[in-house]
Amino acid sequence: MQGLGSYPLALAASEPLRRYVLPRVASGATVCAFALTEPEAGSDVKNLRTTATAADGGVVLEGTKCFISNAGLADSYVVFAREAGEGKPRFSAFFVAGDAPGLSVIRTRVLAPHPIGTVKLERVFVPDAHRVGEPGAGLKLALGNLDVFRVSVGAAALGLADRALAETVGHLKRRVQFGKPLAEQQGLQFALADLATEQLAAQLLVYRAAAARDAGHATSEMAAMAKMHATESAQRAIDRAVQSFGGLGVTVGQVPERLYREIRALRIYEGATEVQKLVIARALLDERG
Ligand SMILES: Cc1cc2nc3c(=O)[nH]c(=O)nc-3n(C[C@H](O)[C@H](O)[C@H](O)COP(=O)(O)OP(=O)(O)OC[C@H]3O[C@@H](n4cnc5c(N)ncnc54)[C@H](O)[C@@H]3O)c2cc1C
Repeated sequence: MQGLGSYPLALAASEPLRRYVLPRVASGATVCAFALTEPEAGSDVKNLRTTATAADGGVVLEGTKCFISNAGLADSYVVFAREAGEGKPRFSAFFVAGDAPGLSVIRTRVLAPHPIGTVKLERVFVPDAHRVGEPGAGLKLALGNLDVFRVSVGAAALGLADRALAETVGHLKRRVQFGKPLAEQQGLQFALADLATEQLAAQLLVYRAAAARDAGHATSEMAAMAKMHATESAQRAIDRAVQSFGGLGVTVGQVPERLYREIRALRIYEGATEVQKLVIARALLDERG
């Protein structure tokens, strides 16, 4: 979450802004947020309504951002807004201090602990020096940033799935029903085999996307496949853990119950699974069309 809000600065902020913020991000002294989503612009990011209107020495932001991770905790936000101009809408990005006059936050409670909320921007002035990237380059920046962090969402899902699989194996070995450990039931062994295979496939997709990023030949669809498969297969692994634990699986405080709540949002944020499918399909159609 820290990277999502700070990486746009690493990519496109002015040198003085980068020098001011990034060392503090690295040391943990400052928390950043990424403010793209709006009530009318979730999957359909181009529908965002927040406006950036030219003012003396900068712009004035007006709008509402929702489901913003770190809202209320963040020292700064990278806010994406629509700038007035001829022709196509121009989307731009701005660095906004968490305590900027006109910025307020309403916290949201979600299924599993996660600092998140709605950010209201009421006549928030942003000086020109706090633009992030060129005017009109905001959407490319937002999507490029997501291409990086979708891979790390996939990596988070790998961790949750690993834990689920380990919990399942441990429980099936311990729990005796019908006079023997559940692990001796072939039906349950088959499920374990499927999960382990899916988990390895997810790892390979995530590692491939990460390695391609490091090597400089990453594509959007690599990140989309990694995020989609890792989060979806982790959900299946966790559901299987809950099922394997029986009644204990839904008991508050048990690990499978916690994992079950924690995995759910990963299939939605940074582009829901359906959006990842659109990215993958578009690449396929462009390539082969
Ligand atoms: C825990 C959490 C943290 C988040 N953190 C941030 C953050 O830090 N910054 C930020 O900007 N946003 C953040 N978000 C917002 C998140 O990125 C959006 O919720 C997500 O992109 C989906 O948008 P939406 O909620 O408006 O759903 P919608 O866009 O309304 O979609 C609803 C459903 O319809 C499906 N759908 C939509 N369009 C299509 C289509 N064309 N074809 C098929 N299916 C479709 C979607 O996949 C989804 O399943 C966060 C969300 C959550 C839950």
